[in-house]
Amino acid sequence: MSGTKLYEGKAKILFTTDDPHILLSRYKDDATAFNALKKGTIANKGEMNCAIASHIFQYLEAQGIATHFIKQVSPNEMLVAAVKILAIEVVVRNIAAGSICKRLGLEQGQALKEPLVEFFYKNDDLGDPLITEDHIAMLDLATPDQVAQLKKLALGINHHLQIFFDQCHLTLVDFKVEIGVDVNGNLLLADEISPDTCRLWDQDIADPSDRIMDKDRFRQDLGKIAEAYQEVTKRVLAVDISAHS
Ligand code: UDP
Repeated sequence: MSGTKLYEGKAKILFTTDDPHILLSRYKDDATAFNALKKGTIANKGEMNCAIASHIFQYLEAQGIATHFIKQVSPNEMLVAAVKILAIEVVVRNIAAGSICKRLGLEQGQALKEPLVEFFYKNDDLGDPLITEDHIAMLDLATPDQVAQLKKLALGINHHLQIFFDQCHLTLVDFKVEIGVDVNGNLLLADEISPDTCRLWDQDIADPSDRIMDKDRFRQDLGKIAEAYQEVTKRVLAVDISAHS
C-alpha cells in the first residue's frame, strides 16, 4: 500500500501512494516534548492517536469542517489528501495552561473570557516562536485573507471539539492545529487531533495533576501516560458520530 517515505516527523511518517493527490500517514509510538529535547515512547500511542484522530476528523467533517482525512486503512495508518502545510501552528485556548502562563503570567487553570487564537511559526531551529499577523505577512507564510480564514476555521473547530469532548467528560483546555492548502486553494484541517496536540482535563477528577489526560503527563513525568491515552481513546470512540451529522 505505502510507497516511498516523503517525510518523517516526530509522531508520524508520510508516504506517497499510487495516487499523487493521496498520502499515507503512519502514526508512531514515539513521543517528544520541549522541541524534541525530551524523547520517549508511549505504548500503542500510534494506534490510539490514529483511532482518535480518525474518529474526530469524521465528526468534524459531519459538522462541515473540511479535513485532509480520507479513510483509516490500518490500526495506525490513514489515507489523507496531499496538501501544502502552512508553516503556522494555530493554537486555540479556552483555559490558561502551558506557554501562555509563562509568557503572560496567567494562572494555570484560569478560564479565558473568550477563546483565544495564537499563531506560532513552525520552525524547529527557532523553537516555534509566537508570531503576529504582521509577521505572517512579512514572512509570506499566508495571505491576510488566509489568516482571516484560519482564525474562523480554528474557532469553528474549537466550538465543535468542545461539544465533542464534553460528551467524553473531558474539558478542552487548548489545542494546536496545522492547516493545509489543497490544489484548489482551499484550507483543510491537516496533521492530527489527539492527546498529543490537545490539553484535556478529566471533568470527573478535581486534583490538578490527576485530571491531566494528555501529553502533559509525558512532558511533566506524571506517570500513567499510556493509561490516560487508553482512557481518552475509549471515551472518544464511544461518541456516536452519526448522532451529530
Ligand atoms: N502543541 C502541540 N505542538 C507543539 C506545541 C504545542 O501540539 O509543538 C499543543 C499543546 O499540546 C497544547 C497547545 O498546543 O495543547 C498549546 O501549547 P503551548 O503553547 O501551551 O505550549 P507547551 O506548553 O505545550 O510548550
